[in-house]
Amino acid sequence: YRLNEVDVTDTTCGYCAVGCRFDVYSKDGEVLGTRPNPEKAPINGISTCVKGKFSYGYVDSDDRLTQPLVKEDGEFREASWDEALSRVKEGLDGIQQEYGSDAISLVASSKATNEDNYVMQRFAREVLGTNNIDNCNRLCHAATVEGLSDTFGFGAASTGLTALEDTDCYVLVGSNTTEAHPVFGTRIKQNVRDGADLLVFDPRKTQIAEYADQFTRVEPGYDTTWINGMIRYILAEDLHDEEFIAEHVDGLEKIRESVEEFTPEFVEEKAGIPPEELKSAAETIATADSCMFGWTLGLVEHSHGTDNIYAIANLALITGHMGGPKSGVSPFRGQNNVQGGGGDMGPLPNNFPGYQPVTDEENREKFAEQWGMEMDEMPAEEGYRLTEMFLAADDDDLKGMFIQGENPQISEPNIGHATEVLEDLDFLAVQDIFLTETAEYADVVLPATSTVESNGTYTSSSRHVQLVKRAIEPKGNAKPDWEITQALAARFGYDWGFDSPSDIMDEIADLTPIYGGISHERLETEGGIPWPCQSEDDDGTPYLYADGFHAVEDSEKAQMHVADAIEPGETPDEEFPLVMTSGRVLYQYHTGTMTLREEGLDAYSAESFVEIHPQTAAEYGVADGETVTLTSRHGATAVRAETTDRPSPGEVFVPMHYLEGGANNLTKEEPLDGPSRAPEYKVTDVQVTLE
Ligand code: SF4
Repeated sequence: YRLNEVDVTDTTCGYCAVGCRFDVYSKDGEVLGTRPNPEKAPINGISTCVKGKFSYGYVDSDDRLTQPLVKEDGEFREASWDEALSRVKEGLDGIQQEYGSDAISLVASSKATNEDNYVMQRFAREVLGTNNIDNCNRLCHAATVEGLSDTFGFGAASTGLTALEDTDCYVLVGSNTTEAHPVFGTRIKQNVRDGADLLVFDPRKTQIAEYADQFTRVEPGYDTTWINGMIRYILAEDLHDEEFIAEHVDGLEKIRESVEEFTPEFVEEKAGIPPEELKSAAETIATADSCMFGWTLGLVEHSHGTDNIYAIANLALITGHMGGPKSGVSPFRGQNNVQGGGGDMGPLPNNFPGYQPVTDEENREKFAEQWGMEMDEMPAEEGYRLTEMFLAADDDDLKGMFIQGENPQISEPNIGHATEVLEDLDFLAVQDIFLTETAEYADVVLPATSTVESNGTYTSSSRHVQLVKRAIEPKGNAKPDWEITQALAARFGYDWGFDSPSDIMDEIADLTPIYGGISHERLETEGGIPWPCQSEDDDGTPYLYADGFHAVEDSEKAQMHVADAIEPGETPDEEFPLVMTSGRVLYQYHTGTMTLREEGLDAYSAESFVEIHPQTAAEYGVADGETVTLTSRHGATAVRAETTDRPSPGEVFVPMHYLEGGANNLTKEEPLDGPSRAPEYKVTDVQVTLE
């Protein structure tokens, strides 16, 4: 086609939280491709990755949901919207009458827009009267949010794009950046080529490790140990930033005491890091003019994830690398809108939008007044975290779920356990764009729109709120999530009267100080705005804490917390001698709902695999490409072996995207991290046997 024959719509990528923007080219309701428009793409400029560029075939997939489905005698049949919504109301009503509102839980979607998520949490609180709402943030960066908000005030990345492109030193921990956040990876590699230092800490030699000045292998589950050891060394050698600490930090003396036992020898014994490597990395960090600490789920998905975050936050504080344009902390968020939809919008069991606690009476009053509720109708107790929902169902305390755009059948720890829970629920409604593995267990399935059929906003990993625009009309009878939720609320007698996502954003801005100055009109004319953006004349905040740590409750200083080096939840033994870590691959996204329907991507990664070090493979008699059985204390799965030196001998790696052969066939639902209730995905003991 010629350019003047096609429609062009500028929008935001629906795949990951880097937040790339680009123009979508479409013709007669079909997406033809995308191309970045650098003028409208502050984060990615002229770059996108393979997913953002080519991966829209799924939208027209033959098995797209285009009509509501209801289950009858164990089989799905198509239904009208009227019938399907009535069935959902009947199902939720029945549980409410018999067991009370808290026997229902909702799972919101970090793929959906901010506006979709805002109305979902409003539905939970106002219509159902429960705080049992959560999202997949619980399975990834929940510990990051806990640790960072306790220390600095905000549970989000402090840095913006300047640090990403121009810091003097990157410290990447448990982050497979080039595959999981490809455009961030590109920016980092460019700056490293121009002279920035790159230190990578990981159990697995990821692609980004190949560009590192120093790559340090860490035993899975021992990050607190090496970070505490590094803090001890920096303090002992007087490499810390005394002036910054005196002005901005509380708690140094208790940290000094708590790290005393983390000698270089102890760190080597536990975390496997030779003393010289620990010391040279410590010196590079402490003497750098600026430093960005980036991490992903390798640091977080542990039964002591919050301690890991306390530790890395303490390291940033003692070296004075916080609050500058090129220095600070940057958790790389996973799904496209997990920052906004998974957190900022309050689909959380403990917070209203903008991280305003539900247990605070003034907050409850504010939201009750806006929504026209009596105070005694507004739920006051915190609800179940996502992981706790699946445990509460075991105990028969949870009877029904409404899941929007998530696929816990694959993403929850221990697929076997998730299956039992989904099968046993009295009522399950799922809202999605495909009949996912989770939706197969539903009583009612509601067809939603994909990202290129939706309007609204996403918030990127660097806190930029950006517009999402409809490029093609919804397929069949699919509807945007917010419209479905509003229609369901109407069934319960609630008239919200939103005409558009822009209307919803106006209500969000009224109630949520960090989004106080955001509107669709401003985003259209100004482009992405990084929160906090408190008022209409506030340009937003490219990096946090430039003028101190005022967001910390009752203090003007950052609060250091002692990071306890808690042992992983399981230890290898004779029966399960290898440690499995898990993660993502470039060509797949989350549970593969979209990407496993892309022919181009499946050519590279249609099926799961296990990476085994050649030495381990030889020990077990495994040949490259052979199918093996992996067994853990929690499950088993058959998977193809790939021999590579990316993992250490004694460790294996399995991606999380797949039902067959995926990592979560082997992971466990407990223990959970204390503060965040996030699971320990990153340490699972396994044995390998030949098929
Ligand atoms: Fe989309 Fe992430 Fe790729 Fe950018 S890096 S194009 S946001 S998937």
